[in-house]
Amino acid sequence: MATFSSHDRKINLQKLANQKFDLLVIGGGITGAGIALDAASRGLKTALVEKVDFAFGTSSRSTKLIHGGLRYLKQLEFGLVREVGSERAIVHGLAPHLVVPEKMLLPLAEKRGLGYWLTSIGLKIYDWLAGVRAEDRRRMLTRAQTLKHEPLLKNDDIRGGAIYAEYRTDDARLTIEIIKQAAREGATIVNYVTVTDFVYDNGTIVGALAKPIDDEGFTISAQYVVSAAGPWVDELREINHSRMGKRLHLTKGVHVVLPREKLPVRQAIYFDVEDGRMIFAIPRGRTTYVGTTDTNYNAGKDNVLATRADADYLIKAVNATFPSVHLSLYDIESSWAGLRPLIHEEGKSASELSRKDEIFESDSGLISIAGGKLTGYRKMAERVVNLVVKKHGGRLSPVKTSKIQLGRLPFHNVQEVSRFTQSLRQLAAPLQLADHQIPYLTESYGGDARLIVEAALVDKTGPGDRALILAELDYCIQHEMVCTLTDFFVRRTGLLYFDVARVRQWKQVVAGRCEVLLQWPAGRRLQELTEMDVWLSQAVNFS
Ligand code: FAD
Repeated sequence: MATFSSHDRKINLQKLANQKFDLLVIGGGITGAGIALDAASRGLKTALVEKVDFAFGTSSRSTKLIHGGLRYLKQLEFGLVREVGSERAIVHGLAPHLVVPEKMLLPLAEKRGLGYWLTSIGLKIYDWLAGVRAEDRRRMLTRAQTLKHEPLLKNDDIRGGAIYAEYRTDDARLTIEIIKQAAREGATIVNYVTVTDFVYDNGTIVGALAKPIDDEGFTISAQYVVSAAGPWVDELREINHSRMGKRLHLTKGVHVVLPREKLPVRQAIYFDVEDGRMIFAIPRGRTTYVGTTDTNYNAGKDNVLATRADADYLIKAVNATFPSVHLSLYDIESSWAGLRPLIHEEGKSASELSRKDEIFESDSGLISIAGGKLTGYRKMAERVVNLVVKKHGGRLSPVKTSKIQLGRLPFHNVQEVSRFTQSLRQLAAPLQLADHQIPYLTESYGGDARLIVEAALVDKTGPGDRALILAELDYCIQHEMVCTLTDFFVRRTGLLYFDVARVRQWKQVVAGRCEVLLQWPAGRRLQELTEMDVWLSQAVNFS
């Protein structure tokens, strides 16, 4: 089996230093991942470097929906709705285990939102623009039907509702799957390598200076350089002396995670709040998560935090919509905060800014892409790679990514996924796992979940859950370039957000195994555990 192992880092670093690439991609979020896969699969010799870990930036901190963006219809962004709306079904087809159909309930409250008839027409247009299949098209509900769907809703406020189709995913897992696929297509990819400057020949970029976290800096030679650095795009434009004209406008979005029993919504809900915004409540495994906020942001980008005001806003919105739940800040068991790398538009508020992506090209040849959505990553990549191919003489094949399935053992439809999960449940029975852990394994690792469970079954040194976490760790070190505790607990498994007790329970054991497998020097284990504790604390303490 081809590996994308933590132990390959050294080999990949040597390749980056010694080979000449057609394309260097800066940034291992969903945008960079998509570009690397598209470029490598069209035959460009491609490299990608990420300064922290894959999906460290916004791509592990979104609402985790592959969605058409109903709110963009309100803003009359028909082109955007059409593109991301139709991308949903494509991305679902590429990874049906990871991009999972989710029916969304849209309650229509008295004196808020668009009202029944406008919503009905709006959703019809939404379905039409996105080319939604007949069986998935929107269904309008009466007041009684809406309350039956979700009895927790504020009864006297509801006029009716609607059900429409979206998809949920795990953003960081989607990013790592695309990264792994790009590596299978021949791209050379390394995390923990920062681009610190560019290399020029006669005023044209011919590469970049790269600094690995654990090694000397070196030059990466590449004919074309694309910056997919998300919120950091303007920093690289600054280094390239090309930060002029349009600029980024960062807005912060926060989500809070609650135990499912504290907010036992029956399905995903998209509801209006007092200030005219809309937020999601999405059940996931043993939790329900709620978000998002949308506020202007000008502070540090490397450690974005949820504040007390962010958490209060979300808890207040939930209590107003579901009055029987009586939540408080103490019910929050985890949270995350992310930055939208949007394009600034004079006079527009955070929520009014367009989510459309844009490509900037500097005089020296730096291509930067910003804006956009997780959902639109494939089309964004296509536009960037088309530009590179055109510069390259236009001789390469057209885009192929709508046919490249994600995963070593891809599934072709939801029926295959559900049969697999069923068989995994039987296989894993001796491990005595909690109920939500089986779908979690399929959604996270696809067909490779079987390898993980088989490895856990061999380990007889402790309870099943311990064996499982160590088997997950071994897999992520061997196949997903995990280098740190937070790589594992935050971005590969999402346990910090959705099963935080498991992090607390197993962090010492996992750190011990990392120390051996990753040959950590003396002192590193303690340092990693301290860093993990900072993340654990920031997820629940708001100031
Ligand atoms: P990032 O994910 O931030 O990646 C950029 C990467 O570049 C980072 O990992 C960073 O470390 C790296 N980098 C920066 N500088 C350097 C350097 N010098 N050298 C090397 N590497 C570098 N979209 C959806 O479709 N659905 C949703 O549900 C959704 N919800 C959202 C909710 C919130 C709160 C937010 C903030 C966004 C949401 N989005 C959603 C939008 C989506 O998440 C983003 O558009 C997307 O993740 C941006 O990805 P990116 O790769 O461009 O940026």
